[in-house]
Amino acid sequence: SKYRSEHHKPRVLSYRPDSVKAVAALEDDYDVVMVGAGLSGGVLAERLARLAGAKVLLIDKRDHIGGNCFDYLDPDAHVLVNRYGAHLFHTDLAHVYEYITSLHPWERYDHQVLARVDGRLVPVPVNINSVNALLNLTIKTESEMDAWLKKTQQPPAHGGAPRNSKEMALSRVGPALYAKLFEPYTKKQWAKDPAELAPSVTARIPVRNNFDNRYFADRFQALPSGGYTAFFNSLLAHPNITTLLNVDFFDVRARLSKRAKLFYTGPVDTYFKAAGLGRLEYRSIRFVRELYRNHGFFQPVSVVNYPQDERDCGFADCSFTRIVEYKHYYGQQSPHTVTFREYSSDEGEPYYPVPSQRNVELYAKFKALADAEKGVFFVGRLANYKYFNMDQAIDNALSIYEQTLCDVMPASAA
Ligand code: UDP
Repeated sequence: SKYRSEHHKPRVLSYRPDSVKAVAALEDDYDVVMVGAGLSGGVLAERLARLAGAKVLLIDKRDHIGGNCFDYLDPDAHVLVNRYGAHLFHTDLAHVYEYITSLHPWERYDHQVLARVDGRLVPVPVNINSVNALLNLTIKTESEMDAWLKKTQQPPAHGGAPRNSKEMALSRVGPALYAKLFEPYTKKQWAKDPAELAPSVTARIPVRNNFDNRYFADRFQALPSGGYTAFFNSLLAHPNITTLLNVDFFDVRARLSKRAKLFYTGPVDTYFKAAGLGRLEYRSIRFVRELYRNHGFFQPVSVVNYPQDERDCGFADCSFTRIVEYKHYYGQQSPHTVTFREYSSDEGEPYYPVPSQRNVELYAKFKALADAEKGVFFVGRLANYKYFNMDQAIDNALSIYEQTLCDVMPASAA
């Protein structure tokens, strides 16, 4: 393995107004203040500390590092679970994969997802197996599948590229599968018709002309050994980084080093609240946990999607989008298992930016403010209002490191 161990733990303090140590850490003289200990903030903190020698204060209002990647051991099932939903790393970017594996060991994991449609479990993304099962066909070869796709796919009538998520899905899987798989799932997930969302949302899900049952076709697919929190411990284990938890940037802003360059990874509309532009929309997730004692596995794969609002889903309320069973990851052994049903919600912690016309236009106004804000860099999914995958967030943070190095550490860049 290319992974080099640093043999030390990150310096993580929990902020309390009456803690002399935490107050001193907050008010110390830093080169960089990084707001948000998620993937974007963690990667930038690591690069600036290790490569540029910057002294970094990383703050987060939550009581843990890792942002939405955070995982922990379920106390009853003794299974490692994600607090904010399943995170599956996948990328074709070799430099991103090299970067993460240089900091921490990762293990190969090829993600698979099934969707429960008309009472059957079929692979997602749609492939030959899904089409045969859902439409009672007997497609056997890639060329037969190509022919079937050509017949069923509906390119937009306007002749151009798909302009929304409905046109995107119809152009890929045609009306029958759109109606079974995409339309109802997207309505559950976004509380909008797919026609109201940018094409990029359903463009995340390809269509396959083969029997590949994997969710992603990327060259690199892996999970961090020991979990994402363990990965963040490796990432932040540098003596130049001090992490301060339980502290809201907006509460302590005036007390932070005036000299430090500021990187902000929180929601851009929170930062510019005072501008009176209104709020951007985010989707959140409400999780409902189910513990199964002495149960083996609950479902055949880690993620089962429930696109339809069926009545016989096995639960009183079938409006959840998917069920995640974490025991499938890392070959975990436990006599028990635990599942989390995901209910999409417009209230709660922000997870997904919502790319509707209104939000895209409103974000453009925030972007103009962010560009004009001197000495502050806006980084990541929430600050850029972009539906980044983890590899895109890392790639973006790595290039922002390159772009800002001269500003942050003029001597080191010289
Ligand atoms: N999608 C769908 N049916 C599915 C899976 C996905 O309609 O079975 C659509 C839906 O609009 C969803 C989008 O594709 O929001 C992206 O799915 P992905 O699994 O990438 O979402 P994430 O894992 O980021 O929540």
